[in-house]
Amino acid sequence: MLRLYNTLTKRVEEFVPSSRGYVKAYFCGPTPYDYFHLGHARAYVSFDILKRFLMVKGYNVIHVQNITDIDDKIINRSRELGISWRELADIYTKDYLDAMRLLRISIDLHPRVTDHISDIITFIQGLIEKGHAYVAESGSVYFDVSTYHDYGRLSGRGYSEEWRQEEEYLAEKRNPYDFALWKAAKPGEPYWDSPWGRGRPGWHIECSVMSSKYLGNEIDIHGGGQDLIFPHHENERAQSEAYFGKSPWVRYWFHVGYLTISGEKMSKSLGNIVTFKEASSKWGAEVIRLWIASASYRKSLDYKEEALEQARIIYRRMVEAHQLLRSIVREKGIEHSLGEKDIEVWMGLSRTWEGFLTALEDDLDTPRAMASLHELLSIIYSNVIRRDSGSLALKALSVLETMDKILDVLPKPEQRPVLANIDPEDLVKLLVEVRQRLRQKKMYEESDWIREQMMRLGIKLLDEKDKTRWVYTS
Ligand SMILES: [Zn+2]
Repeated sequence: MLRLYNTLTKRVEEFVPSSRGYVKAYFCGPTPYDYFHLGHARAYVSFDILKRFLMVKGYNVIHVQNITDIDDKIINRSRELGISWRELADIYTKDYLDAMRLLRISIDLHPRVTDHISDIITFIQGLIEKGHAYVAESGSVYFDVSTYHDYGRLSGRGYSEEWRQEEEYLAEKRNPYDFALWKAAKPGEPYWDSPWGRGRPGWHIECSVMSSKYLGNEIDIHGGGQDLIFPHHENERAQSEAYFGKSPWVRYWFHVGYLTISGEKMSKSLGNIVTFKEASSKWGAEVIRLWIASASYRKSLDYKEEALEQARIIYRRMVEAHQLLRSIVREKGIEHSLGEKDIEVWMGLSRTWEGFLTALEDDLDTPRAMASLHELLSIIYSNVIRRDSGSLALKALSVLETMDKILDVLPKPEQRPVLANIDPEDLVKLLVEVRQRLRQKKMYEESDWIREQMMRLGIKLLDEKDKTRWVYTS
């Protein structure tokens, strides 16, 4: 049974999804206006560990994660760089998706705001009709916070001036804490047509709209970085519960702690960003995953070389143990009995899996789960490999691979260096030969295509009477 901390109730609660066997999860994704950094990696990996744990427990998890491809930050940055907002969003969306692939995080659906403008307009229209939103002079639409009774509970802020937000719109808002659902376009800004004039969606509304479009109006887990609790999630909750007229809209609110560097939050505004590209080229994405798992998801995680070095040591031990166990399993046949000492080791291996699972059930206590992994590795090195028993190796391998279903760092079969023994020049010769055969059959279109493609790769073909030479172009 999983027990999970819920930001709304500020308690660790038993996790019970709304429908048996299914978990509907929404995690707030990036605003692609700059490079993906380690703070993002921390949030997404932590959620990925939770998701994989639920999958190992037998749940069918549906995971939706948005991409905020239009926003003030995107507009401002594209102006700075002198490119269109769409081009900017595309560049950094690609950077985000590349990082997610390296981090082995897969998401079922990645909805983009600009593909959901009409859904957003319908939702806002509904909020206006229900008396929760109003259209201001400029054509912007605001959520009237005073119409929602439970505002401030998620962030734990009482009813106070701290609710003030979006100060630049103060002049036309009924209350300083109302927030924009729709922003009227200023000159030169991108816009979409709406019943209230040209404009674009505010930030918060997209998540209410896209999550309910794909997951329905009751979500099991909604998550994000801790910095999203206020105002983003507070506002999402207010507008969704107001719109659907039901509570809770989200059963469990899951928030991941900050990533710090020398004790300070890593953020663009502080200028202390470590990009994922930089960190992964130094450590590898797998080591970064293990390092993230070394801290409890709710606490701050400090970027320290020693901690990453430690994660790298564990990673190497895992990869080597995996190969050694596989080779023992391959060599040894099955055994028909075990000695007393072997039984003891065998039971010890089982206990490490039990410890791993129990730790994760306790509000995803990954540091304690990592301690079980350590214990497993130490049994493997001190007992299993030395005893050279097929049954023990098989048991150890199965525990290690099952833990890795959640940690996911071991090399995949397709990552094996299959090309290691092939000379690339042999492949070039093979292609030249294929093209030669096509030419002999007068299939010139195909043979020309091969020549063009090889040229693009930097290999130039020179046809002679009855043979083809080739050179690398520079
Ligand atoms: Zn969101």
